[in-house]
Amino acid sequence: MDKTILREKVLEEIDRRANEIIEYATAIWKYPELGFKEFKTAELTEKKYEAAGWRYEKGIAITGSKAYLKGDGSGPSIGVVGELDALHIPVHPEAHPATGNVHACGHHSQMAAMLGAGYGLDAVKEQLDGEVVMVTVPAEEYIEIDYRNRLREEGKLEFFGGKQEFIRLGAMDDVDIVLGSHSAMDQEELIGVGGSNNGFVGKLVRYIGRESHAGGAPDKGINALNAAILGLMGIHANRETFRDQDTIRVHPIITKGGEIVNNVPADVRMESYVRGKTVEAVMDANRKVNNALRAGAMAVGAEVEIQDHPGYMPYTRDPNLEKVVIASCEGLVGKDQIKHREHSTGSTDMGDFSCIMPTSSIGMAGTEGAGHSRDLKVVDPVKQYIWPAKALAVTVVDLLADDAKEVKQVINGFKPTINRKEYTEFMKKMVL
Ligand SMILES: [Zn+2]
Repeated sequence: MDKTILREKVLEEIDRRANEIIEYATAIWKYPELGFKEFKTAELTEKKYEAAGWRYEKGIAITGSKAYLKGDGSGPSIGVVGELDALHIPVHPEAHPATGNVHACGHHSQMAAMLGAGYGLDAVKEQLDGEVVMVTVPAEEYIEIDYRNRLREEGKLEFFGGKQEFIRLGAMDDVDIVLGSHSAMDQEELIGVGGSNNGFVGKLVRYIGRESHAGGAPDKGINALNAAILGLMGIHANRETFRDQDTIRVHPIITKGGEIVNNVPADVRMESYVRGKTVEAVMDANRKVNNALRAGAMAVGAEVEIQDHPGYMPYTRDPNLEKVVIASCEGLVGKDQIKHREHSTGSTDMGDFSCIMPTSSIGMAGTEGAGHSRDLKVVDPVKQYIWPAKALAVTVVDLLADDAKEVKQVINGFKPTINRKEYTEFMKKMVL
């Protein structure tokens, strides 16, 4: 069947189910959950899969799932990704009253775009020369590092990002290429394409001092909070050495500043990222940061434990896949509604996918306010949920129609930077 007819059918189906897609997004917005705890979001999504009659696997990396449109294992396979998790920003006016969580990064919109694309593609699946897999992944936000480290110690996970866990568990082994979407907070145009993202190393820091009476005997103590503050100052003193082209970002927080106010703090904990455009840049900055942290301890005679954990890989969109995405989206919305993006200093575990397989994701319009802030809100549900669903769906049609000619070219032209079988060992070694 002609591609144009397939595209029209897909778009008609998404329009027909637009209200249902928006309702689904709204339900997720109202029940935001943090990474590896997205049980209700997962349950709601799995109900949708059941209603659609799609075979699915659940409980991947705790809350993730994969749903197969055809389920017959034929042809190349395209994964359409939706991220399950939210953020913790209690000051957001629509934060969940009990948890303080909110979808201030718009991941609920990705879920809607993914499901909407699935609905559209379901109408033409017999005409597609390959498989479509809806991949719902937990924990894109690399937060609560201490909590996730405990899960790691209990053997429940190895990495702190959901997509990293998907790769480690072999859950991406039957997926050949990946398409995703993300809310773009400053985007006037309907669809954003291109761009890249920083990678990073995650960090847990513990300063160990000695407790004593803060008023009566501070001379008997070792102040771990002072050590931490000097460590932070040391990081600041290194910032002028970070080269502009490496786009380094270091942003520690203190998660524990002491025990009781009338004691000298003896146990102070911090979490941080060290981000950069390339692995080499991240490693160089990370060495300086660790030196600075150690210097803080040395200054007051405290001890410091620094744990580096694999963060996310820098994200590069596959150029061959990106060409198809751009052509498909231009065909859908017109050239003037496409924003060509540049490098972003934020990070995503789509970067990890992009190291092992052709990966691309589109930017979604329709929000107002800064991402990760109290101001972020969806102001145009059609722009935010429906257009991205359409963009993902027509791209899949273009990739999988005509004997999957386009997708085969993309797969053949791709050179992984990490072999997917070696990913886990590679990532573990990277931080040692
Ligand atoms: Zn996000």
